[in-house]
Amino acid sequence: MNKLIFVSGGVCSSLGKGVAASSLGALLESRGFNVRMVKCDPYINVDAGTMSPYQHGEVYVTDDGAETDLDLGNYARFTSSPLSKANSITTGQVYNTVIRKEREGHYLGRCVQVIPHITDEIKARIMAVAKENADTDITIVEIGGTVGDIESIPFLEAARQLIHEYGRNNALSVHLTLIPEVGDGELKTKPSQHSVKSMQGLGIQPDVLICRAPVMLDDVTRRKIGLFTNMENDAVFTSSNMDTTIYEIPLMFYEQKLDQVILKKLGLEARPANIEPWQEVVQQAVSRKEKVRVGIVGKYIELHDSYKSVYEALFHAGLECGVEVELVKIDSARVEENQNAEAILGKDGAAVDGILVPGGFGHRGINGMVLAAKWARDNKVPYFGICLGMHIMLIDWGKHVLGWEDADSTEFNQNTKKAVVSLLEEQVGLKNYGGTMRLGRYVSVAVPGTKFFAAYGTENVSERHRHRYEFSNQYRDEMTSSGLIIGATYPKDDLVESVEWPDHPWGVGVQFHPEFKSKPTAASPLFRDFIAVARDLKR
Ligand code: GLN
Repeated sequence: MNKLIFVSGGVCSSLGKGVAASSLGALLESRGFNVRMVKCDPYINVDAGTMSPYQHGEVYVTDDGAETDLDLGNYARFTSSPLSKANSITTGQVYNTVIRKEREGHYLGRCVQVIPHITDEIKARIMAVAKENADTDITIVEIGGTVGDIESIPFLEAARQLIHEYGRNNALSVHLTLIPEVGDGELKTKPSQHSVKSMQGLGIQPDVLICRAPVMLDDVTRRKIGLFTNMENDAVFTSSNMDTTIYEIPLMFYEQKLDQVILKKLGLEARPANIEPWQEVVQQAVSRKEKVRVGIVGKYIELHDSYKSVYEALFHAGLECGVEVELVKIDSARVEENQNAEAILGKDGAAVDGILVPGGFGHRGINGMVLAAKWARDNKVPYFGICLGMHIMLIDWGKHVLGWEDADSTEFNQNTKKAVVSLLEEQVGLKNYGGTMRLGRYVSVAVPGTKFFAAYGTENVSERHRHRYEFSNQYRDEMTSSGLIIGATYPKDDLVESVEWPDHPWGVGVQFHPEFKSKPTAASPLFRDFIAVARDLKR
C-alpha cells in the first residue's frame, strides 16, 4: 500500500506533535494496518547523542544503537513500528551524505544544491523506511520544528514533492496547530489560519488539521477554521488537554473519527478497530487507588523531558500495580551539599517510598546519589539504579561496606586507587564523543534465584545500553564475597549487567536502560517489581 502521512506543526513548539503522530499510528494499527514511524529533525547534529539532556531532553536509544530524538520513544510506547537508525532522519545526516557523495564525485560536476540534492536525499531516506518491508501499509513522517522555521523548509519541501508525486490519495498532510484562549475563555483561530497559510506558501495544503485547544471545538468554530484554511469541515479535529494520561489521546481521536477521515482520504477501507487495549490503559489509570512516592535522584531533574522514558516507565509500572506513582524530583546536588540524606529523603523530608537513580554523565551531584543509595540500603527502601544508578550502587558498596574511602568510577576520578567502575578497556584512548559507547541491544543472562531473574522470569534478557563505563571485574570477588549479588552478566565479554543488595527488599541496579522498552500495555518487568515492592512495603 505504501501510503504516506506527513505530520507537521505550527504556531508554536511543544504542542504534542510526537504524541499526536504516535496516537494516529496507534489508531491505524488498531485497525490492522502495518504502520512505520519516521522522525525528521531539522537540527544539524548528526544524531541526538551529543546533545545535552538539559537542552534537548533524553536521548532515546534503539536496538541497533541509534541515539535518537525522544519522539522515537513516543512511537515505541504507542505503536509497534520497528525503530532503528533509519527511522530518525536529521539535517546533519542528510548533509553528511550529500557532502560525502559530492566529494566522491557522485554528482558528476553538477552544482550541488538544497533542491534537488538535499531534498532528494530526504525523500530517499523516507522512502527507504516506507519500502523496507513489503507489508508496510502506512508510513507516518513527523517533521520536527514549526512551520516558518528556516531549518525545516527542506523537509517540508521534500514532503510537498512526495505528496505531489504520489498523489493526494496516497500521501497527505496532517497539520497540528494551537487555538489559544484569551480573555473570558474566547478561543482564537487566527494563529491557526496563519499557520496553514505558511504551509500553503510552501506549496502544501494540509488535508487534516488537528487543533490543540483547551476545550473541544464546537462545530461553528470548526467550520470557521475550515472555511479560512481550505479545509473540509470534517477534517478539523481537536486535541484537548488530557486530565489523566496522554494514553487517552488515541481514544480522543478515535471518538472524533480522525482515523476514519484519514483512511477515507487515502482511499483505504476502515477495517474494524480494536481499541480495547487503549481503553484498558485508561481504565487502569482511573482506577488507581494508592500512591507510591518515588524519589528520582538525578542531575537533570529540572527538565521533565530529560528522563522522559524513565517517567513513562514508572507510570506504566503504576498501571500494572494499581498505584499512582508520584514523581518526587530531587536534585542530587542538594543531597550532596546537605550531606544528610535522611533529612531530604526521609519522613521529615520528601518521605519517599522508593529511590530511583537514573542514567547520567559527568561528575556533578554524584556524591549526593551515593548518599541516597546508602540511605536506601540502610533503611531498606526499594532502590532502582539505572546505568549510572548501578555505578552509584558499586561506589556506595565499595565506600561504605568494604570501607574503601577512595572507591569511585574513573569517570569521576581518574586517580582513584579503587576504581570499582572503569572504562571498557578497548575504549581507553578513544577521543571522539558520540558513537564510542556500548550502544544498543545486548542480551544479558540472568542468574537464577535473583530479583533480576524473578522480574523477567527468563534467562536471556534483551535490553538497550548507552554507556562507556562498566563494573570493574578486578573487584568482582571482593564485592561478591562481601555480599553483593550479581543478577545478570554478559558472558561473551565477561561483563556484569546487574547487581543487587543482599538482605534488602529490592535494591537492583542494571547497566542497561529498561525504560526504553516499557509500554503502557506492558510495563518493563524491573520497573513493575520496583513499584510493586514499594507499594507492598507502604501498605
Ligand atoms: N556515565 C556513565 C557511563 O558512561 C553512565 C551512562 C548512563 O547512565 N547512561 O558509563
